[in-house]
Amino acid sequence: MVAIHKASTVFFPSVEAMKSRDWIDKSGYTYGLHGTPTTFTLEERLCALEGGSHCMLVPSGLAAIALVNFALLKTGDEVLLPDNVYGPSKSLAQAELKHWGIKHRLYDPMDVSDLASKISPNTRLVWLEAPGSVTLEFPDLLALVKLCRQHGISCALDNTWGAGLAFNAFDLWPQEGKASWGVDITVHALTKYPSGGGDVLMGSVMTRDPDLAHQLKLCHMRLGLTVGANDAESVLRSLPSMALRYRAQDLCARKLARWCQTLAPVNQVLHPALEGSPGHAHWKRVCTPVARDHLDPLCVEADSVDGWAAALFSIVLDPNCTVQQVHHFCDSLKLFKLGYSWAGPISLVVPYELQTMRSVWPEAIEPGHVVRFSIGLEAEVDLQLDLQKTFQACF
Ligand SMILES: *Cc1c(COP(=O)(O)O)cnc(C)c1O
Repeated sequence: MVAIHKASTVFFPSVEAMKSRDWIDKSGYTYGLHGTPTTFTLEERLCALEGGSHCMLVPSGLAAIALVNFALLKTGDEVLLPDNVYGPSKSLAQAELKHWGIKHRLYDPMDVSDLASKISPNTRLVWLEAPGSVTLEFPDLLALVKLCRQHGISCALDNTWGAGLAFNAFDLWPQEGKASWGVDITVHALTKYPSGGGDVLMGSVMTRDPDLAHQLKLCHMRLGLTVGANDAESVLRSLPSMALRYRAQDLCARKLARWCQTLAPVNQVLHPALEGSPGHAHWKRVCTPVARDHLDPLCVEADSVDGWAAALFSIVLDPNCTVQQVHHFCDSLKLFKLGYSWAGPISLVVPYELQTMRSVWPEAIEPGHVVRFSIGLEAEVDLQLDLQKTFQACF
């Protein structure tokens, strides 16, 4: 493990060394704000994991989203967001971006032609999320990225759900002997799986493109974004167990999601790995690794059957249930705690009012009350019993 290096000031041996050091290429240390061995190591490991070549750490997932917007957009530009984008990303577009004369438009993530129709000569950036937040529709990622390429527009993926494990965002079309195709930029809430402890807030911005990296780094520097060494160390410590946690939480979540499909008040279960869930075929195409030839052959068998998915699912409860019943249900669960975020050790539940979050009620989603679960590291049987008892008592 790398040590926890804490620094604001970095001493230089001479004026000559002080003048010739360049913070941007990370060949040396200049000032704590621009990185220490601890943060450089974390950035390098995240690049190795996801296949990027430049990574910047920021204080939260939301700050990662903000950095990309601030670095790439100026007055008069337009940015396109999927309608199921992480909520605070919409709020940022509706407030700061709008105040600075940057327009945003929402597109239907499940309709490639809708994105095509919303691209204008002013469009500079397209955000992608796979799957979308809360409703977990998995878009046709390849078609969306291809469209952005054809128009020469940068695309940034919020890859928090995939965590660099479920699919290869920078290599959506690996091509033999040629540069492969994928998204231009990824952002992550390291707060989720990479931390896994429910105790760290951090984000990352990554790219393979040296020009984009330069643009992002300059903005990162000017905004004064940095992360604490202790937090970076926490993430470094959690990273080696991430794939195991992801896998275990995934399998438990899928079993519970399937079981929820059998319950009377549940009209729909939203989980991209479940047959019939919106975008299931798209999920299958990018997240089942049959075509991922770089995998250790020992892992391929189980992997190619199941694919990978984060431990999140939502249920749509019958519209005849009352809001009071839904809230009482969430309040009454014992092991599932009420709280935001996910991918930590504790299972969580949040009720959502989808009608306040989306511009239109999505076609593929049944009317009703949406409740999202995130699965922690508890025993599956305990979680199922908690759900079963509470469903019986509340509906
Ligand atoms: C949690 C989350 C974020 C924000 O991360 P924070 O570190 O909590 O700011 C961004 N995008 C997605 C998809 C998330 O789930």
